[in-house]
Amino acid sequence: MIKTPWGEQLKARLGPRCFEGAFLSLYTTYKVGGPAQVLAFPETADELRLVLNTAREAKVPLTMLGLGSNILASDGGVPGIVCCTRGMRGIERAGETITARAGSALDEVAEAAASAGLSGMEKLSGIPGSVGGAVWMNAGAFGQETFDCLIDVQVMDAAGAVKTFKKSELKPSYRKVEGLAGFLVLSARWALKAGDAAALKEIRAGILSQRAVKQPLEYPSAGSVFKRPQGDFASRLIDVCGLKGFSIGGAQVSPKHAGFIVNTGGATASDVYALIKKVIAEVKGKTGVELELEQILLGDFQDAR
Ligand SMILES: Cc1cc2nc3c(=O)[nH]c(=O)nc-3n(C[C@H](O)[C@H](O)[C@H](O)COP(=O)(O)OP(=O)(O)OC[C@H]3O[C@@H](n4cnc5c(N)ncnc54)[C@H](O)[C@@H]3O)c2cc1C
Repeated sequence: MIKTPWGEQLKARLGPRCFEGAFLSLYTTYKVGGPAQVLAFPETADELRLVLNTAREAKVPLTMLGLGSNILASDGGVPGIVCCTRGMRGIERAGETITARAGSALDEVAEAAASAGLSGMEKLSGIPGSVGGAVWMNAGAFGQETFDCLIDVQVMDAAGAVKTFKKSELKPSYRKVEGLAGFLVLSARWALKAGDAAALKEIRAGILSQRAVKQPLEYPSAGSVFKRPQGDFASRLIDVCGLKGFSIGGAQVSPKHAGFIVNTGGATASDVYALIKKVIAEVKGKTGVELELEQILLGDFQDAR
């Protein structure tokens, strides 16, 4: 990877929290992906602003990365700066309100809420993303979504100014939020309801065990590959097309849950992408349903086989 003056400049400011050419396979749950031209780990809003300004001045793309659990990063890597929030952590509780910084694990917020006897996030247990990623995607499970009890989201705009969006200013829907494009999520605040900690912890434990039974957690993946089609399940459609267990290279449609593609060892992003295309084509051909990707592609997939 060719060194750049702007990459060197950022490295001089962030020190060991900035790398040139770090492989994204180390920072995504699929465990695939080539190098980020520059990978930065800011810890504060000021450092995030520095990253933002560097990208703007160098005229290179800035890509946000949380815990990389909904991402397929290309084998060719990602140009510009990939800004990973995992150093921006912190969860605070005040009465029935919980505030968490973007890089905090959503599951830790769900755990903290349940342990404090606060209801409204317990069903998000086990979602392996960050608060920033969960807000961005309106992550959800078992009938509960990130936005359900949300009060507001603190963001940074493209000029580096910090502002707060009330929930009513954003438009959340299924795995999508309108109104956040162009903003970087700094933190989120939820108003929860007083409940019984023991009962909430039991719900949480039940959800974690259901996930372990139904999902192929023993292999790297990025969760459900496709959005739920209207009135159906992607996994059911993939299953009836006979694709359960189908592999390309090291990527396999999970035999345990057809909605997941797993890395059985040594998969490349091209393997995963080729399998995604194969599944979409087969399901369209055999059922007429056009599956929509839930996972986010980073980098170039034009040349993927
Ligand atoms: C085993 C497994 C199970 C899963 N189960 C579920 C589930 O039940 N429900 C569900 O909804 N999802 C599920 N997922 C998917 C994933 O965990 C969620 O989508 C999660 O919200 C992604 O968060 P992340 O931090 O990993 O985001 P990333 O994958 O790192 O990024 C996702 C998107 O968010 C953007 N982003 C991240 N942080 C910020 C920020 N601070 N500001 C602006 N943009 C940002 C990124 O640019 C990217 O576009 C699962 C994944 C796995 C591996």
